[in-house]
Amino acid sequence: MANPSTPPVIASWALASLVECSSTATPSTSQAPFKDPAKIRELAASSSVLTVEIEHIDTKVLEEIDAEGVQITGPDGAATTKKVSIHPSWRTLRLVQDKFDQKEYLSSQGIPVADQISIKTGSDAIMESSLKEASDKFGFPWMLKSRKDSYDGRGNLKISGPTDFELAVKDFGSLSCYAERWVPFECELAVMVVRTEDAEGNTKRVIPFPVVETIHEDNVCSKVFYPPRGVAPEVAQKAREVGSSVVAKLWGRGVFAVEMFVTSKGDVLVNEIGPRPHNSGHLSIEAVPYMSQFKAQLTAILDEPFPEGTRSFCGLKKAKSMFSRKISVYPHLYGKESKPGRKIGHITLTGSCSIAELESYAQPLIALADSMRK
Ligand code: ATP
Ligand code: MG
Ligand code: MG
Repeated sequence: MANPSTPPVIASWALASLVECSSTATPSTSQAPFKDPAKIRELAASSSVLTVEIEHIDTKVLEEIDAEGVQITGPDGAATTKKVSIHPSWRTLRLVQDKFDQKEYLSSQGIPVADQISIKTGSDAIMESSLKEASDKFGFPWMLKSRKDSYDGRGNLKISGPTDFELAVKDFGSLSCYAERWVPFECELAVMVVRTEDAEGNTKRVIPFPVVETIHEDNVCSKVFYPPRGVAPEVAQKAREVGSSVVAKLWGRGVFAVEMFVTSKGDVLVNEIGPRPHNSGHLSIEAVPYMSQFKAQLTAILDEPFPEGTRSFCGLKKAKSMFSRKISVYPHLYGKESKPGRKIGHITLTGSCSIAELESYAQPLIALADSMRK
C-alpha cells in the first residue's frame, strides 16, 4: 500500500453495480453502470484500491486513473490528486475483453490455443462469404464467437452446417466476431492462479490453485469437480503449468482463472482467461485450507505477503486429515435477484469419499436446481 497507516478502501464492480467497502467503516454501496466513466472516477476518488468481478469495464477511464490518479478535495478545500491502485491492470482487462485479441496474444506468447480467424461483417453478403471461408478452413462444426461482451455462452454459436448461416447473420451481423476451430475435447479443466508483481510490474509470484474439471451445459459452467475425474495426474500437472504460464504473461495483481480444453491425446489448449475470482474457483472456499480464491484476491490486490515458499495451493486431497469421512454440504446464495439464466448461487459438497459417491449424494440437489431453472 502507498500509505500503510491509511486503512485500504477496496472497491469492486459487481454485475450492474459499483460496490465499495472498507475494512474499518461500515460497507457502503453505490449503484451505477460499470461502463459509466464519471461514476468510476467517483468510486476511485473514495477508494485506494480498485478491483473487478467482471471484466467488461470501461478500461479507458481505468487507464487514465492509473496514469494520472483522481482529483479529490482535500480537508482544506483545495483540489489534490490521489493515486489509486488498480488490480488487475486495465491492460489485462482490455486484452481479455476481446476474446480474439486475447487468444492472438496468448498464441504469440507460445501458449497453445485453438485456431481462429476473424469474421467480416458489414453486409449479409460479406458476412456469408466470410462464414463460408471459415467453414472451408475448419470444416463443420466450428464455433462462431462474439469478440466482446460475452459470458455464460451468450455470444457463442455452434455452426454445424450452412443452414446455420442465416441465424449467424441475424444474431452476429451487427457484432465484431470471429470463428474458432471446434475442439473435440475429452474434458475441460480450469485453474485459478495468483499473480503478484514488483514495483516495475514484473511478475513476482505465480501460485496456482488445484486444477479442477468443469462441466458446461449450454455453454454455461454447471458443475466443477476436484480432483478432475479420469484425468491423468501428468495432464492435470500440464494444465497447471499452462495456466501458470498464461497468468505470468498478464499485468497486475490478483487471481485469474484459466479455462482449458484437454484433447484425447492429452494436449491442453487454453480456451479463455477470467481475470478475477471465477465460478471454477468457488470450491476453494471449502476445499483449499486457509486460502480461498477470495482471500487470495484480497491478499494479492492489497500486496500482502503470501506464505513464503508456497509454490501452489493444495486441495483437500492433501489435507484429508482435516475432514471427517462424512459428506458436508455448503449452499451459497449471492443475494442476487433471480432472472432466467442468471447464476444466483452455488452448492459445494466435500467429503473424503469417491467423487462418484459425492455426485450421487448431490443428485437430488442438482435435480432441484434444474427444476427451479426450468
Ligand atoms: P464464460 O462464462 O466462461 O466467460 P463464454 O461465454 O466466454 O463463457 P466460452 O468460454 O468461449 O464462452 O465457451 C463456453 C463453452 O463452450 C466452453 O467452456 C466449451 O464447453 C464450449 N466451447 C467454447 N469454444 C469451443 C470450441 N472451440 N470447441 C468446442 N467447444 C467450445
Ligand atoms: Mg468468457
Ligand atoms: Mg468460458
